[in-house]
Amino acid sequence: MCGIIACVGRGDDTLDTLVHGLSKLDYRGYDSAGVALTGSGDDTVEVVKRQGQLDALRRVLETARADGAEPRGTVGMAHTRWSTHGAPSDANAHPHTDCTGRVAVVHNGIIENYQALRDELAANGHEFRSETDTEVIPHLIEELFDGPEYDPADPEPAIREAVARLEGSFAVVVSVAGVETLFGARQDNPLVLGTSPRDAGSAGGERSEPRAGATYLASDVPAFRAFTDRVVYLENGEFARIDAEGWTVTGTDGEVVQTSVETVDWDPEDTGKSGYDHFMLKEIHEQPRALRQCLQGRVDEMGGRVTLDVDVDPERVQFVACGTSYHAALYGAELFRQAGVPAQAFLASEYATSPPPVDDALVIGVTQSGETADTLSALREARSRGARTLACTNTVGSTAARECDDVLYIRSGPEIGVAATKTFAAQQTALNALALSVAQERRRAGDVRDSLSALRELPGDVQAVLDESNAEALAEEFVGAPSYFFIGRGVHFPVALEGALKLKEISYGHAEGFASGELKHGPLALVTDETPVFAVVTGDGPLATKTIGNVKEVESRDAPVVAVTDGRSKVERYADHVLEIPEAPPRTAAVLANVQLQLVAYHVADRLGRPIDKPRNLAKSVTVE
Ligand code: GLU
Repeated sequence: MCGIIACVGRGDDTLDTLVHGLSKLDYRGYDSAGVALTGSGDDTVEVVKRQGQLDALRRVLETARADGAEPRGTVGMAHTRWSTHGAPSDANAHPHTDCTGRVAVVHNGIIENYQALRDELAANGHEFRSETDTEVIPHLIEELFDGPEYDPADPEPAIREAVARLEGSFAVVVSVAGVETLFGARQDNPLVLGTSPRDAGSAGGERSEPRAGATYLASDVPAFRAFTDRVVYLENGEFARIDAEGWTVTGTDGEVVQTSVETVDWDPEDTGKSGYDHFMLKEIHEQPRALRQCLQGRVDEMGGRVTLDVDVDPERVQFVACGTSYHAALYGAELFRQAGVPAQAFLASEYATSPPPVDDALVIGVTQSGETADTLSALREARSRGARTLACTNTVGSTAARECDDVLYIRSGPEIGVAATKTFAAQQTALNALALSVAQERRRAGDVRDSLSALRELPGDVQAVLDESNAEALAEEFVGAPSYFFIGRGVHFPVALEGALKLKEISYGHAEGFASGELKHGPLALVTDETPVFAVVTGDGPLATKTIGNVKEVESRDAPVVAVTDGRSKVERYADHVLEIPEAPPRTAAVLANVQLQLVAYHVADRLGRPIDKPRNLAKSVTVE
């Protein structure tokens, strides 16, 4: 999920090239960084890695350089880690090596079958030094090197075989001591190859020499954009081999793949937005991948089961959360109630100051960062009253993750934009899976089977929304409205709240979300022919019929109505505009509808020229009460 940069052919400029590349990946958010170098004649790969930001690694490298002990080599790779398995620490930072120090690996993503591999390798005598899933890879390669059929002079077959045994999502780069070649492979995580034009530049600094003929592998183009604009985007299942002379890409069958070299026109100073104008838009578009990662290994459609690493079957549930996470909590509470478990969502700040009876509730804190002060206080309050607590968070090793009895990671990858987008979708998805796991315990098998296939289809459906959305044109129409209203029922009520919050946060426009039924109890007084009303209506059941009734109420006040719908209820008859989503059961339709509303908020704010990624007065992680 985080950053990789690797290169061959930059001679004694290798270390500077790697550090420069890491600095270009800095925007992603990470918790540790490391480098590994090797050169001809080496017996081991030299690794330096540190928990913390790049400066912590830089300081160690500078001290080593001053002492003449900096890592040297013409082949190098580097990594910024965003932990998924094992807390941030020096030992868990990448690169990881085998027992002999001959094989080094950097990895982005999650190896799903790591526990089985780790058990197998440990039984064969491999000693593990980290808690990561990644560390199985160098040990597996070492194990294969020891097999009779492998020639140590050509590590490629062993590396290919090791990669073939990995399940999950990964971009990996492998370096072998003394070998002036790097090997890369990917599955569901990006890996790009950079190939130098003849006039390649230098990493900057006095020690750098211009180099031609260098080749790069990276998770993202900005990491090597200062040196080349010629890139090959590797596809799933492809295997790359790079050296100073060039590169080859092969498929799983070992046959050479005809790749095309593309020229990117990004500015070398691109901050990592991959061509998007804002991180928020990039992150909205990353949602299919984020949701795939969130669901990976958790949903077994064939077996009809959800498998989570938390095992809960609570009598009742209390959610505590703030802001967008509170909307995810409302959504989660609704799904638990549908699974037959009494559940309520509380604003964390209210819970902490005026706690309700805990009884035998499981208290679930929803917090992207795991550091939200109000949520931590509420969780501590619940714990002090004897409740069992669970953190639903994006951040491994965060305070919430450490302090709670259980953790459910949403695994969406780091989010830079202050306004939460992909993390909200991943919170919805993870809580969906959690509620299903409880329904499963309670043998509500019918509920589980139907919902499982909907969950499986969700990433693809989100992609369809992104590909076909007309939100930009619609936003154009409504820019500058005095107020915007959002309505929805059941699982769509939190979506209405979130749609309004997103618009408020980044456009500074006035927006309110309501439960559809509440509209006539007051807010209707504000509805005029200038106030667009976004109504989330999916399916054709009784909830849709009731919301259509509310739509008619606003329609008769001449308010422009935008229906966010799958079309089954025919609400479009009463709407001026439609934002369409694929047909899906309500619980996943709520995720799809929200994507449309994210796009509306984004495009309204963009038209107004707002600083979308850093809206005024707001912070990504609110660590004060
Ligand atoms: N799963 C790996 C870890 O926790 C890689 C994380 C990443 O993508 O940065 O170390």
